[in-house]
Amino acid sequence: MSRIEIVQFPYLSDNYGVLLHDSHTQQTVAIDAGEDTAYNQALDSKGWRLSQIWVTHHHWDHTDGINALYERWQCNVIGPAKHSANPISHLSTGLEEGDIFQFADMPVEILHTPGHTLDMINYCLPSENILFAGDTLFSLGCGRVFEGTMDMMSQSVNKISALPDETIIYCSHEYTQANGKFALSVEADNQMLISRINEVELLIKQGKPTIPTNLKLEKQTNPFLRTSSPAIRNKLGLKNASEAELFAALRAAKDNF
Ligand code: ZN
Ligand code: FE
Repeated sequence: MSRIEIVQFPYLSDNYGVLLHDSHTQQTVAIDAGEDTAYNQALDSKGWRLSQIWVTHHHWDHTDGINALYERWQCNVIGPAKHSANPISHLSTGLEEGDIFQFADMPVEILHTPGHTLDMINYCLPSENILFAGDTLFSLGCGRVFEGTMDMMSQSVNKISALPDETIIYCSHEYTQANGKFALSVEADNQMLISRINEVELLIKQGKPTIPTNLKLEKQTNPFLRTSSPAIRNKLGLKNASEAELFAALRAAKDNF
């Protein structure tokens, strides 16, 4: 049995926070920290003490809670080595592509996935087949390209796509339903997509999260992982475009959807 216990909880209007707990060492990690209240509630309800925060990128909805959590827990703050205009407070370890560190005797591998921001990193636990994807990949969608280029974002999404199909993907926002509407608009006949959208509707109605997702499902349904789909290419009138061109066209179409 895995030593790891994972708790996911909503905060702000559509963010997800995650706690990762190691039962052997009683160490607990928070993935991002856009506010402190929801994180402290989740910690207190489990009786866990916060030892580390793993920051994906500098946006406020992922970092605004760091100061208060640091004050209470004196935790280590780990995050992107690449500095942005808003440096991450209390950062003690800066990480970049290919870096590996240990948590709960498991390797944690860093993927640099720029595009949404330049500093974005994702945390991969290969032994557990888990990826914390921040705002790079969402279920049925991907992050908006704010700081990087379309090419960069396309490569970042491809980097995630190259992970094993079984990878469980925790993304930072509940955007699945809105993403599904766009996905359907570019690939109306995708039966897997239609059944995922129906499942998502039901989950939302029941007040349940649609996250985590998994890579196999996303490859079957997420247009940003399906840039070679003939149906999507036809729909956009870009039959012979490169994957990167198709990605850019899809991202632009989604921005205006
Ligand atoms: Zn963001
Ligand atoms: Fe965000």
